[in-house]
Amino acid sequence: MTLKDLPNVELHLHLEGAAPPAFIRGLAREKHIDISGIFAEDGSYSYTDFWHFLKVYEAACTPLQTPEDFRRLTLAVLEESAANGVIYSETFLSPDFCGNRDLAAWRDYLAAIEDAADQAERTMGITLRGIVTPIRHFGPDKARETAICAAETAGRFITGFGIGGDERSGKLKDFRWAFDCAREAGLRLTAHAGEWNGPQEVRDAITDLGVERIGHGVRAIEDLALVDELAERGTVLEVCPGSNIALGIYPGWRAHPIEQLYDRGVKVTINTDDPPFFHTTMAREYDMLNRAFDWDEGVFRQIARTALDAAFCDADTKAKIAKKLEAADA
Ligand SMILES: [Zn+2]
Repeated sequence: MTLKDLPNVELHLHLEGAAPPAFIRGLAREKHIDISGIFAEDGSYSYTDFWHFLKVYEAACTPLQTPEDFRRLTLAVLEESAANGVIYSETFLSPDFCGNRDLAAWRDYLAAIEDAADQAERTMGITLRGIVTPIRHFGPDKARETAICAAETAGRFITGFGIGGDERSGKLKDFRWAFDCAREAGLRLTAHAGEWNGPQEVRDAITDLGVERIGHGVRAIEDLALVDELAERGTVLEVCPGSNIALGIYPGWRAHPIEQLYDRGVKVTINTDDPPFFHTTMAREYDMLNRAFDWDEGVFRQIARTALDAAFCDADTKAKIAKKLEAADA
């Protein structure tokens, strides 16, 4: 068995951010929307820095207008994930992009996404769960509406609540109401922190919002006391190395702190974030980590197990996925 054949578990993936560019181009053509400016000559997404990336991301979302569009998007994304060894995936879903945070509209979008997820499970052997995610730079008021959408649809498929977007916009504590609302509805919590802001943001996510996982969190490395605390608490980091490198947070793979965090006992996982935007896949992340840090199959198997343990799905689903991982260990 080679790295390429190892089944893997992904916890940090934005559904719209995972949209294959060809899919978005085709959908835009069908709807006569001109977003040709967001693509490079080779057909990939094109942006200059993080702020521009967010703008291109939003533009790429414009052809996604109906539940049917999201059904097709979900299938296109899961096909790509399954082809890269992912057997279980948790994806961020934004009611901002799915019916403008209107609860009835959100239910329709969600039904379409779940329908696609069920189909993918039957035909591609990949299981999907959703994490509802307000967008930080849209502000706390919209996050409250998003939390209500999340709370009302919490269940087998919607298992978590998070926050993404521009980390430099506002304070995490401004979103406490939204996170409390989600927690009371039984949702598990994560937050993007410690990607663009330093270690204090990671502390804030834990103390102000009470999250059990951190999206990215890699800049915790700048405060070793915090790193030890994360290791002790068992806080899981949804690390996205290729994303961090593509956006220039670290200059290259060998400079990425994932190995140091892992060696110091932090529960790290490997994720692709918005893979086509960062020209990556799970298979590529494995390959680059193997080259940079000489990580072997044993390390990747252990990290996949860590990711599954930290997954927000119910126990039955977890047991089913665990069997698949164990079968690959045999
Ligand atoms: Zn992300």
